[in-house]
Amino acid sequence: MENFINGKWTAPLSGEYADVINPVTGAAFETMARSNTQDVEVVMEAAQKAFKSWKKVPTAERAKLQHKAAQLMRDNSEAIGKTLATELGRPLAACIREINRGADLTDYYAEEGLRLKGEIPMHNIKGEKAMIVRDPIGVVLSITSFNYPIALLTMKLGAALIVGCTIVAKPSDDTPLSTLMIAELFTQAGYPEGVFNVITGRGRDIGDALVTHPYTAKIAFTGGTSTGKHIGMLAAQHNKRITLELGGQSPVIVCEDADLEVAIPAIVKHTFANSGQFCYRVSRVYAHASIYNEVVERLTQHTAQLKVGDPFSDSDMGPMINQKIYQTSEDQTADAKTKGANIKIGGERLTDGDYAKGWFFPPTIIADANHNMEVMKNETFGPVAGVMAFETIDEAIELANDSEYGLAAYVFAGELGQGLRIAEELEAGSVWINNIQRSYHDVPFGGVKQSGIGREKGRYGIESFTELKTIYFSY
Ligand code: NAD
Repeated sequence: MENFINGKWTAPLSGEYADVINPVTGAAFETMARSNTQDVEVVMEAAQKAFKSWKKVPTAERAKLQHKAAQLMRDNSEAIGKTLATELGRPLAACIREINRGADLTDYYAEEGLRLKGEIPMHNIKGEKAMIVRDPIGVVLSITSFNYPIALLTMKLGAALIVGCTIVAKPSDDTPLSTLMIAELFTQAGYPEGVFNVITGRGRDIGDALVTHPYTAKIAFTGGTSTGKHIGMLAAQHNKRITLELGGQSPVIVCEDADLEVAIPAIVKHTFANSGQFCYRVSRVYAHASIYNEVVERLTQHTAQLKVGDPFSDSDMGPMINQKIYQTSEDQTADAKTKGANIKIGGERLTDGDYAKGWFFPPTIIADANHNMEVMKNETFGPVAGVMAFETIDEAIELANDSEYGLAAYVFAGELGQGLRIAEELEAGSVWINNIQRSYHDVPFGGVKQSGIGREKGRYGIESFTELKTIYFSY
C-alpha cells in the first residue's frame, strides 16, 4: 500500500516499498511504502496547509464529521479487523473489537470536544477583561507501536481533530495497513484533504525528520521507553510539545482475603491478552504467603485452558510479532530458570506443525520468582509472568513499587479499605482494585516514572492538543 497523503493514495518519492509480514506464516502478504525524508516534506506540507483552514471550521461541524467517520469504522470493522489480524496475528474477534472500541473513542472525543470551554476571570476592572481561550496546537505527529495500532491511533486522532489540529500518523512498520485503511475512511466521511495523513516507513529512516520538522507542533508517541527517550530528547531540543506512552511492568498484589474466583481469571486474561504484547499487562504477581500455593496452582490451571494458534481459528493467543519481541520472553524464562525459579507451565517455544513458521511462545507462569530475576524487573512484552510470595502488606507495596516503570498496578483485597490504602501507595498512572477492566474512554490514561509523560483519553487527552492563550481586552 502507498502512503495516504492529502486525501489520496500517494506513491513514495523514495520509490521504495517494504514487505509487511504475516507473523503466523512468516511470509510477506502486502507491501508498505518505505518513505524517506523527501516524503516527510510532502506529508508535513500537506498537514500544515490543511491546518490553516481546518482550525477555522466550527467545532460542531468537526464533531459531525467525526461521528460519521466513527460510524464508517464500525461499518468496516470486519474488513479492517481481518487485515489487522493478518498483520498482527491476534485473534480476529479481538481485532474487530479493537476497531469498534476505536470508533467509540472517536465518538466520545467528538462529544467531549463540544464541551471545551474558555474562562473569563471576574477581575471587576472597568473597561477591561482577560479571556483565557484554547488554540489548537498545530500539526500533530502520531507515532504508534505495533500491538494495538488502531486503539493507540484513536487515543490521539479524535482528540487532535476535534480541537482543530491536523494529523500525520506514522504507524509501526510491523502493522501499518490497518492505520492506512482508517485514513481512507476518514476521507470517505468528508474530511478535507491533508487533515489526516499516514506516512509509512522505518522509524530510523524517517523518525528524526518527522519529529524535528518545523511544522511538527506536538508528538504523541506510544512505544518503547528507549525510543520515547530518544524522541523526547529531540523534542526538547526543538521545543516540541510531547506526550509519551511508554513501557510497563505492572504488578498485582493478591491479599490474604482476596476473592480468587474473580482475581485469577482477571489476572490470567490481562497477563496473556495479545500474547502478552500489551503495555499494561500483569507482569508480576505478589500473593500473600498463606495463599501463595493456591494462587500458583489456580493461575497454572487457568493458563492451561488458553489455546495458542492462528488468529482465524478459535485461538486465545497468536504468535509474537517478530523475533526481537519474542526473544525477551525466551531470555527472561531462561534467566529465571537459572536463578532457581519453577516454570509451572509453558516456557519453551512452540515449533511443531502449524507453529513452525511463527514466533509462538506459550503462556508461561514462573513460580518462586524474586527480584534478582529479569522477569520481575524488566518489561517482557510477552506471555510470561513471575509469581512471588509476600508476608506483610508493606513488603508487598515495596516490591510492587520496586520498578522503574509505573503504568498500571492491581490489587485484590477482601477488606475494601485495605484495597484502597494499597492503591493509594502504588506508583502507577492507573490502579485497579478487585477487578481489571479495559481502560475507560472518559478517564485519563498514562504512566509515571519511565512509563511516560502526560495523559491520553478523557478531557485531559483533548486539552493536551491545545495551547492556552490569554487575551487582555480593554474597551
Ligand atoms: P518501538 O519503540 O520499537 O516503536 C514504536 C514506534 O516508534 C514505531 O512506529 C516505530 O517505527 C517508531 N520509531 C522507532 N524508532 C524511531 C525513531 N528514531 N524516531 C521516531 N519513531 C521511531 O516500540 P514497539 O516495539 O512497536 O512497541 C512496544 C513498546 O510499546 C513496549 O515497550 C510497550 O510497553 C509500549 N507500549 C506502550 C503503551 C502505553 O500506552 N504506554 C501502549 C502500547 C505499547
